[in-house]
Amino acid sequence: MALDEYRKKRKFEVSPEPAGSSRAQTSTKKHGIYVIQKHRATQLHYDFRLEHNGVLLSWAVPKGPSLDPSVKRLAMQVEDHPVEYASFEGVIPEGEYGGGTVMVWDNGEWEPEIEDVDQALRKGDFKFTVRGKKLRGSWVLVRTRGFGSRADRSWLLIKHRDEYASTADVEEEKPRSVLTNRLLAEIAKDEGGDADKAATGDPNPKSRSAARKPPGAKAGAKKRSKRRKI
Ligand code: MN
Repeated sequence: MALDEYRKKRKFEVSPEPAGSSRAQTSTKKHGIYVIQKHRATQLHYDFRLEHNGVLLSWAVPKGPSLDPSVKRLAMQVEDHPVEYASFEGVIPEGEYGGGTVMVWDNGEWEPEIEDVDQALRKGDFKFTVRGKKLRGSWVLVRTRGFGSRADRSWLLIKHRDEYASTADVEEEKPRSVLTNRLLAEIAKDEGGDADKAATGDPNPKSRSAARKPPGAKAGAKKRSKRRKI
């Protein structure tokens, strides 16, 4: 079944990740779960997941999504995950598959913009709308020519032009969990993980303010824009 690869890679007596109780099934409902998990494993990446036929279709996006339609972000398709994974936030023990800190970075619903999702996935041209807290509007995943044995799993995630398109750096500006408002380092600290390693996935507050402050900007004028929600 669709979750065999997921289960084979993990030891559920060691990792707090869900084994997944549900069997993959065909669903007729129109809206599905949309979730992005920020994952500081060997490399920092963002796991982009869409519920389809009883599982979460999953892509690992090294740089995370871009709101700018002129920017294409590599998205490597990975094994389907159980639907229960959508609310998983915590620490996978070091040495285990995906060892490191996981944050629920964005969530909401999605719906396809095409008739047949399976056909769109086969064709490698998959258009959809997401309604999340950080990401909204129309997106596309396009299969691209990758390298080596994973060639057929390489996709590009691209924002379509609509009112939600923007040149804002959403990863930098909204780095916190939508579930708990924590940074990666805070999750690691709370859940007994490696907080120093996790912190390397959080924006550096010093470089952030230095990069943003235009020369001659008044200190008071910048304050309001910094006080953002997650
Ligand atoms: Mn991951």
